[in-house]
Amino acid sequence: MTTIDSLGDILELECKRGYGNKAVIGGLDKYLHRQVGRIRQDIANPLLLVSFDQLNLANSNYDSWDMDKRQKWIMSVFGWLDELEKAKQDTLASPLPSRERNKVTMTVVSRSHPQKQSGGLSSPITVISGITPRVAAKFAKLGVRTINDLLYFFPRRYIDYSQRKFIAELEEGKEQTVVATVWQATVVTFGNRPGTEAIIGDETGNIRVVWFNQPYLAKNFPTNARVVVSGTVGMFKGQKVFESPEWELLKGEELIHTGRLIPIYPLTQGLYPRQVRRWTKQAIDGYTWQLEDFLPSEIRARCQLLPLQEAIGQINYPDGQLMAERASDRLAFDELFLLQLGVLARKREWQEGQPGNAFRIYHEVIDKFLDCLPFALTRAQERVLEEILADLKQPKAMSRLLQGEVGSGKTVVATIALLIAVANGYQGVLMAPTEVLAEQHFSSICDYLSKAGAQPSLSSPGQGSNIMCYTGFLTRPLTVALLVGSLKESEKEDLHHRIRRGEIDISIGTHALIQREVEFQHLGLAVIDEQQRFGVLQRQELRQKGFNPHVLVMTATPIPRTMALTLYGDLDLSVIDELPPGRHEVKTECLGPQYVEKAYAFLRRQVSNGQQAFIICPLIEESEALEAKAATSEYEYLSKEVFPDLRLGLLHGRMPPSDKEEVMRCFRAGQLDILVSTSVVEVGIDVPRATVMLIEGADHFGLSQLHQFRGRVGRDKEQSYCLLIPEKFSPEARERLQLMERIHDGFALAEKDLELRGPGEFFGTHQSGLPELKIAKLSNLDLLEMARQEAMTLFQSDHGLEREEHRSLKRRLSHVWPSYIEWS
Ligand code: ADP
Ligand code: MG
Repeated sequence: MTTIDSLGDILELECKRGYGNKAVIGGLDKYLHRQVGRIRQDIANPLLLVSFDQLNLANSNYDSWDMDKRQKWIMSVFGWLDELEKAKQDTLASPLPSRERNKVTMTVVSRSHPQKQSGGLSSPITVISGITPRVAAKFAKLGVRTINDLLYFFPRRYIDYSQRKFIAELEEGKEQTVVATVWQATVVTFGNRPGTEAIIGDETGNIRVVWFNQPYLAKNFPTNARVVVSGTVGMFKGQKVFESPEWELLKGEELIHTGRLIPIYPLTQGLYPRQVRRWTKQAIDGYTWQLEDFLPSEIRARCQLLPLQEAIGQINYPDGQLMAERASDRLAFDELFLLQLGVLARKREWQEGQPGNAFRIYHEVIDKFLDCLPFALTRAQERVLEEILADLKQPKAMSRLLQGEVGSGKTVVATIALLIAVANGYQGVLMAPTEVLAEQHFSSICDYLSKAGAQPSLSSPGQGSNIMCYTGFLTRPLTVALLVGSLKESEKEDLHHRIRRGEIDISIGTHALIQREVEFQHLGLAVIDEQQRFGVLQRQELRQKGFNPHVLVMTATPIPRTMALTLYGDLDLSVIDELPPGRHEVKTECLGPQYVEKAYAFLRRQVSNGQQAFIICPLIEESEALEAKAATSEYEYLSKEVFPDLRLGLLHGRMPPSDKEEVMRCFRAGQLDILVSTSVVEVGIDVPRATVMLIEGADHFGLSQLHQFRGRVGRDKEQSYCLLIPEKFSPEARERLQLMERIHDGFALAEKDLELRGPGEFFGTHQSGLPELKIAKLSNLDLLEMARQEAMTLFQSDHGLEREEHRSLKRRLSHVWPSYIEWS
């Protein structure tokens, strides 16, 4: 990728993020200042080089500008990129001199009036005139390949240019539209930069229109042409003026750039707003008639939803704000409804597809286990245990999500469930996302069993410590094994044999457990820890290992109910909402960026008391590679400049898994004082001596994630601390981070997070193996509940969606949920 491409991408990201100067670390000005020289080298065309220099990027002052000025300025840079792109395409595409070429395109444009097209919705977008394979490649980056994709390529937002005014009525500072006649349009210079100036007029007066940095626009405005101009009106030397407005010539066609709500699409480098609007309009005019409305009309009527074709038209080019909302409701309902049908069908299939194993609940086993533990279960643990036991008794497979804060005692409860499976003559597995966590589980389960009076013994001579055998607890010996990727091949093979022969009762491990060669003799219960790392597919795979085992999924990430219903709509929910007594709250403090030295000094004091600390590096979204790089240089800086005398370790997502495991092991074993890490440290590692969690760039993380980090400390008797240092201490960041000081309940923080940042940020749906939600918002509880209700009602009335009027819905479902569910 050239630096020019990155410039486009960064500006695009900046637009997406709402012009907050957040697209690059350190801000745009710094970036430009550093990169301009390199960008310049990539520009071959001398004319473009001149106009590039006129943009004067090396001396931009973006950070000091208001939103409006930022937006305009970025548009002007896009204008230049646009020119560059055109120049490239011209040299590539056509040997004609440019004047001739203009004529050709003009005739093409005037011939392409909207008309119904007959090609199918799955045709490639190149059937649209003007979409060349090069352009198509850019759309592909946005996931748009077919006409259908283009119809479902929704605007991020709209600009309201519907307020049509006479020139005399224009008011300063508002977005308004005029329809006027061009008196003259010329290339002029503003300061020392060329631009376009036009004078336009209607029956009430004249107004000046200027476009900075876009001298090439002048040729688009022949004298006496009718033009529609939409934008914000400013004042210059006491005169009203339109500054860099949207415009289009009035030619009797429907307006798509001005005079209405204008769609603003997500773009990528080399795709520019005006072109994209032309193409989406063509697609809508040509193809929406082919869209089949799969929603049963009864549901549509009951929920007062727009017909599909209308919704697609209106979401792109709405007649007004109300219609935009109605269109969005309809399309969001579709997504939620299809999603709910999917998760409900999966739950049903799970529970009805094959009979499950009804376990007998051996209370004497449970009592013996509990009696010997050095603590009593909390009320929440008891309640959740009851819920799980009630499921295990049923002849249908349990599928339950167990949520509970870090340290709330989920593992004890899971252990009891595993014992019940074993007492019934079945095998159980416990899967963790990393080897270190699997080892942790293995040792704590072994620990519980020893406490519960079982006698450990090696299961057979020559056996490593990864298989433990306990006698004196059940009526027969109980065998627990740790199976992780780092075992020797021979050890692994041996374990596989034993598992297949049913000699191992409880297997604990990572993904290695569900690899193909592992076969269970009679798997009865699978416990999956830290759900977010495991997709639906893995759950499915595990299930196929056995005879429809009960499944218990555990997570320490508190998920608000609406999200749980959606993301895990196929699971029943249990919550441990109480911590064992005697836990210290982790003292949390949010410090201004200037106090980082103080924080380091605090860390040093803790370490000299024999404690350990985490330092979390700033999150760099969308790039694990950059994040790893940043963490590495932070690590080098800290080890050389700040803590040269201490033992530091580094952990980031780009390290090979074995290196990661090794660093975690060292840290856990106390061989490191400070662990410098990216967000990968998030998942449930237990390091009792770690008492400080220092989070740099804390403003980049969500509250739930910060809470997860905080959960890494506070396991010890010692008081633990969490220090939050934001990169920028904006009032919003301060307000958000100060919630961390007050709130220590993960669910409350999760709700806040959902409220403040929306579900996309909160919890990517990608990871969960669910269809992507493009338009639906999980925070829209009403729509979500309506969709879930309708989905349930539909299944009640037509179990297999057999009825004629549900045929196209069924077809649609098989697209959205291709693999898991048999819809036939
Ligand atoms: P989780 O898996 O939910 O993070 P664990 O099951 O690992 O939590 O429990 C965390 C720690 O608390 C363990 O050391 C465990 O032995 C202990 N523990 C669990 N339940 C209780 C309880 N009811 N009372 C006191 N300590 C408990
Ligand atoms: Mg845990």
